[in-house]
Amino acid sequence: MKAEIITIGDELLIGQTIDTNSAWIGSELSNIGFDICRKTSVHDRSEDILSALKGIGRDTDLVIITGGLGPTSDDITKPVLCEFFNTRLKMNETVLENIRILMQRRGFDLNENNRLQALVPESCTILPNAVGTAPGMWFEKDGKIYMSLPGVPAEMKYLMTEHAIPELKRRYKSQVIIHKNIMTYGTYEAKLAEILTGFESALPDCIKLAYLPSFGVIKLRLTATGKDPSFLHAVLEEQTSKLRSIIPGFIFSEDEESLEMVIGRLLRERKSTVCTAESCTGGRIAGMITGIAGSSDYFTGSVIAYSNEVKKRLLGVKASTISEYGAVSEQCAREMAEGARKLLSTDFSVATTGIAGPSGGSHEKPVGTVWVAVASDSGTSAEKYIFGTDRLINIERFARAALNLLRKQILSY
Ligand code: AMP
Ligand code: MG
Repeated sequence: MKAEIITIGDELLIGQTIDTNSAWIGSELSNIGFDICRKTSVHDRSEDILSALKGIGRDTDLVIITGGLGPTSDDITKPVLCEFFNTRLKMNETVLENIRILMQRRGFDLNENNRLQALVPESCTILPNAVGTAPGMWFEKDGKIYMSLPGVPAEMKYLMTEHAIPELKRRYKSQVIIHKNIMTYGTYEAKLAEILTGFESALPDCIKLAYLPSFGVIKLRLTATGKDPSFLHAVLEEQTSKLRSIIPGFIFSEDEESLEMVIGRLLRERKSTVCTAESCTGGRIAGMITGIAGSSDYFTGSVIAYSNEVKKRLLGVKASTISEYGAVSEQCAREMAEGARKLLSTDFSVATTGIAGPSGGSHEKPVGTVWVAVASDSGTSAEKYIFGTDRLINIERFARAALNLLRKQILSY
């Protein structure tokens, strides 16, 4: 089954409002087996809305439209729908009563604009809106379902969850879509795609592969489509096991976990603890670790050692290390990790020192250089990475590089 999404609103086109509705709708529809083949955003202009409606694909089964249902003059979706479905607006007493109740609860009087919201195209079925004044509208024409929903995300979500999705599930129960998300770290997208060329070309027809990179982490999403869920699960498992043998060193989770989630799980299993000593990441790693509920079981604290003074005074980095090798050096990273581990009495510690940029680089230490070190009972390991020139992106990449080194050290312990 194919679906299309049309979002209506000038604000979406000029970047004032990010179109989160279509992302949410896409994800929900995909979960119940729809193939979302197109989304379109248009102005609050009749000719643009009409041309989007007329441009819907021949074999599309479902069209979800959001926006333009407010009580003000810029909201013109309803008259356009009347033109498209060849019907007319009619006062709906049930909708009017719902609006009256909502306004009363908020302590407002019903005005003329509110009454206009109770005018709905005669040929549609109303989806009652308990959280707002604009009802959802369900149309059917030439074998397609069209739904027009308010733009306000909370109202759209309410109508989708309470009315649209249950009804769609009843009508189309044949197709299933199952996703399997395998998380990797350690190489870049183009390289991973090269390694997986053979794997990809041997994929069965019911499986699609997508690469979703984010700051060095690449999510491999396998999507299985078909009628029999247990067959699809088996095919997904078979393909996952193939991946396990091709890229064992890169996979850190087969269940869409983040690096910090995996680390939390590993530390909890081992009843071990960790702390961080962060220069260039400024607490980002600690922030990621403590973003996981229950992290107090294994995370003790962090020293944000941004200045050399703090590196020396709190972490015990030797003055000679900094004068001889500089703060961005393997030696300094190692001493930071070892110092923090001692100071905060943990089993593991992870340290970063680098140049996030945009300035401060040199020929031998360009912007984007980072040294990360992990210390534990079994010794200290350190690695250098060189990323790009964007400060905030570098900080995200540094943090993930450090977390991955920590993960490997915990696993080898
Ligand atoms: P409307 O139904 O067009 O009156 O939309 C009401 C409000 O919902 C707008 O002011 C936006 O803030 C928000 N909105 C509309 N469309 C979207 C969308 N596609 N994604 C996120 N927010 C939206
Ligand atoms: Mg609008």
